[in-house]
Amino acid sequence: MDNPVGRRRVLAGAGAAFLLSALEGCGPGILKTGRADASAPRLQPSLQLPPLHASPDRITRITVCTRPFRAEGPRLDLEQIGTKTIVHNYGHGGSGWSLSWGSSSIAVQKAMATGARDIAVIGCGALGLTSGLLLQRAGAQVTIYAKDLPPNVRSSLATGVWSPDSRICLEEHATPSFNALWERMARHSFQTYQTLLGLPGDPVEFIDYYGVSDDAGADDKTAASPPADERPAFADLKRKLIGDLIPNSEEFAPGSHPFGARYLKRYTMMMFNLSAYARLLISDFLANGGKIEIAEFRTPADFAALRQATLINATGYGARALFGDESVIPVRGQLARMIPQPDIHYGLDYKDVSFVPRRDGLVFQVVGEDDYYGYNDATTAPDRAEAEHAVNTIAGLYNS
Ligand SMILES: Cc1cc2nc3c(=O)[nH]c(=O)nc-3n(C[C@H](O)[C@H](O)[C@H](O)COP(=O)(O)OP(=O)(O)OC[C@H]3O[C@@H](n4cnc5c(N)ncnc54)[C@H](O)[C@@H]3O)c2cc1C
Repeated sequence: MDNPVGRRRVLAGAGAAFLLSALEGCGPGILKTGRADASAPRLQPSLQLPPLHASPDRITRITVCTRPFRAEGPRLDLEQIGTKTIVHNYGHGGSGWSLSWGSSSIAVQKAMATGARDIAVIGCGALGLTSGLLLQRAGAQVTIYAKDLPPNVRSSLATGVWSPDSRICLEEHATPSFNALWERMARHSFQTYQTLLGLPGDPVEFIDYYGVSDDAGADDKTAASPPADERPAFADLKRKLIGDLIPNSEEFAPGSHPFGARYLKRYTMMMFNLSAYARLLISDFLANGGKIEIAEFRTPADFAALRQATLINATGYGARALFGDESVIPVRGQLARMIPQPDIHYGLDYKDVSFVPRRDGLVFQVVGEDDYYGYNDATTAPDRAEAEHAVNTIAGLYNS
């Protein structure tokens, strides 16, 4: 999402009222309690979904990655280091893919304003690739220097959904000027993603995503999830600032869908098939005459060896070590990848586990109760038990 989700409790009363009115129209086979009446003929549920073959033996890979979270939001300022002008473009938390086009367009404007036309980009993840492409479109000659390339960058280990306010900053830093910047980045990115729909390999597509709950007091899957304790809340910006870009959700009463006596809410979500998408970005960058060089910088002083005077720094979590920027906090996230199933075009969220139907491998993830899940945890060892728990939780929906 990152966490496609985030969740916020809504009033149980509203869900309960909806349930009653929905059940009244259900006819035989469904009791008002939401339980099936065994004596009545079984009704065909109104929502039908092809079943998912979810089981731990189908897991192909478990990956762990650290989101580059900064309490004050991404860093986009200019820094002069020796003879080099550095435009920073890092620290996008769980929203790096989602905000990439908008954030990189701001970094590119700043880099072009230096007057340079031969520009270096450090990093080849979501932010480096979009910076490189947008620099080319602005008329610059670009070389990307990076230690690792996709699929061996952190960006390649993301969930792959449009989640522009996922762990993007703390609420206390969501000032009017930050909100205006974020809205600009989110709207720009959203519009750019519309130009990438319908391409071979489906780098970008829209999916249905179902929030499944055992009680009527369902969570809102499109809002940030505030911590239950005293820790400061993460900013919750989507509904407030770009609500017009978010399609309405729809509710399904127990018995009107394949998951028994549970409550369902359907959302529409943009999804990125990251293997195809990253390849598209790289091949477009190379086709436009861009160059990619493998290079590792141990300190900013190493930039002196580059011929370019203007650099965009898109090193993501790597900026913490490279620039000694301890404001970059790791937020651990683990994905269990499973053999793709081409007929599955819907995602699910149940009991703090998310499932996303990526074409390049089904993605299961424990997202936790709130956005502090994985906070300040830089460990990257895969946890097989967590992966199996994620898969079994979603599999359990099909056995009831
Ligand atoms: C589990 C998980 C799920 C996520 N899901 C989503 C999602 O669904 N949607 C979303 O929008 N975001 C999501 N994110 C967040 C997203 O992955 C990040 O915000 C994004 O990847 C950051 O991209 P980046 O380009 O800044 O960094 P990276 O992808 O880390 O790229 C950094 C680049 O810089 C290079 N580099 C770093 N240091 C050096 C150095 N010293 N010298 C040379 N090169 C260097 C690296 O090799 C790499 O090429 C998720 C994150 C996690 C962990």
